[in-house]
Amino acid sequence: MFKPLIAALALCLPLASMAQRLALSFDDGYDPDRLPQARALNNQLLKALKDNEVKSILFAAGARVDSQEGMNLVGQWLEQGHQVGNHGYSHLNLHQDQVSLDRYLSDIERNEDLLARLPSWTRRYRFPYLKEGHTEARRDGVRQWLSAHGYGPGAVSIDASDWYYDQRLRAWMAQHPGQSPQVFRQPYIRHLLDRADYYARLARQATGREIDHVLLLHTNTINAMFLDDVIAALREAGWTLIPPQEAYADAVYQEAPDTLPAGESIVWSLARKQGLPNLRYPAESEKYEKHLFDALGL
Ligand SMILES: [Zn+2]
Repeated sequence: MFKPLIAALALCLPLASMAQRLALSFDDGYDPDRLPQARALNNQLLKALKDNEVKSILFAAGARVDSQEGMNLVGQWLEQGHQVGNHGYSHLNLHQDQVSLDRYLSDIERNEDLLARLPSWTRRYRFPYLKEGHTEARRDGVRQWLSAHGYGPGAVSIDASDWYYDQRLRAWMAQHPGQSPQVFRQPYIRHLLDRADYYARLARQATGREIDHVLLLHTNTINAMFLDDVIAALREAGWTLIPPQEAYADAVYQEAPDTLPAGESIVWSLARKQGLPNLRYPAESEKYEKHLFDALGL
């Protein structure tokens, strides 16, 4: 009499083992010198992570957080069991000619000195703009330096345009004082789910298997506002949220594809290496999103 139940359970098992897993990562850090509400936003973001029992990693860019208050806010991430990684001090773009390899590497080291003031930090590096070098010398120069300095992987697999949605949200709020920004919730969630789905499919094509994903997000207003809903929507869509160190244990993050320009998401990079068609470059840009806001009148 329990046969239907057993059959149903058996059907569930392969589904469960196929579940997609992902870790959230946040770049930059809130800058109290530029944002009077930095502490409130940091608290909101950390509360959403705590309420949903999600552990994450903050890749802090020194110039944004190099103040007593800025470092206090970064310190809160550690206190709540998250990790803090290195995002460079000056948020340099490795593809700009005026940024020499030497200057780029000293900027990573300068941020190490700042992070050393924290009780602990994790030796992972997140390339600003996901730009990993447009020449072989730069790409290999930074890779070798990071490896010689004991860094583990810090790439993303799912790239998105949360920074652009945030920009549009803040511009709209400035123009519509007193009005509820809830109208941004659905478009934003739809965007993140769409990008997660896209990179999951691209990963299957490029690696022939399910990988553990790392999603790129930023410490901004839109995430402070909607992270609760984003996490609920990801779970609803079948994603299991895991801590970043678990995701980074996936061998895919050890890959160093010899593409040029190097960078973007690791999945994009592997797909590019294999010559998979229809890859966008830059992979995520406001030009793919702008029409959506224009159509919505936001
Ligand atoms: Zn950044």
